[in-house]
Amino acid sequence: MGIPTAPAAQAAGRFASAGPEALLDWAFRTFGRRIAVATSFGAEDVVLLDVARKVEPDAVFFAIDTGRLPEETFLVAEAWRERGARIRWYFPEHAAVEGLVNEAGAYSFRDGVEERKACCAVRKVEPLQRALSGLEAWITGLRRDQSPTRAQIASVEQDDAHGGIVKINPLTSWTSEQVWDHIRAHRLPYSALHDRGYPSVGCAPCTRAVQPGEHPRAGRWWWESPEHKECGLHRPSAAPRNASNAPGPAGEGAGGNA
Ligand code: SF4
Repeated sequence: MGIPTAPAAQAAGRFASAGPEALLDWAFRTFGRRIAVATSFGAEDVVLLDVARKVEPDAVFFAIDTGRLPEETFLVAEAWRERGARIRWYFPEHAAVEGLVNEAGAYSFRDGVEERKACCAVRKVEPLQRALSGLEAWITGLRRDQSPTRAQIASVEQDDAHGGIVKINPLTSWTSEQVWDHIRAHRLPYSALHDRGYPSVGCAPCTRAVQPGEHPRAGRWWWESPEHKECGLHRPSAAPRNASNAPGPAGEGAGGNA
């Protein structure tokens, strides 16, 4: 069952200048059991693990094990599980992975953008569709300054790429400095790769450390140009509902490291 866009529209107006806690509180009260938080255990996602669980201790998180994740991601995931976080893992369909690897090899994603997207489609996009099945809203740790492809994301939007459900991105306006200030202030578990020059962590063969001064996303799919650097999990919405530019209550109009 889809949901009407009115709640997203109202939230966008109401929470235009509010912090992530207020938006998350609205999200959990509005959607109840029909909402979950996406996590890939990157820096923004551990902030969300902390803030969302303080707002809603029973919040459900979901993660995708692509089959190519680095060991450090599982270690930080376990640290959060031991803290009581409710994490559901989703895996790719084994037949699709077998077909991909047996036909094109273990590193087909290096052959071109289409080949890379084909791998992401099997290992990330299809499991995400199952993770979102039955939900009416999801929450991500996307920030606008992470990449050119994310510069226009809204704090609350209708996710037309996933059946029109509501997508909530409480950290859209946060900077990397704010993220790390929060992690240090609350002594949160985070991926050890961040301390080795990885501002962004994804699959092991598609992520590397960046040099000082390089863009934080430079370590992801470094053989591609910046406008291609999305895996298909986050596609621009045709109907953004930006909290910062939506009309107010009198005439209301109405997100990581992946
Ligand atoms: Fe495949 Fe790389 Fe995409 Fe992971 S990030 S799904 S290994 S192309």
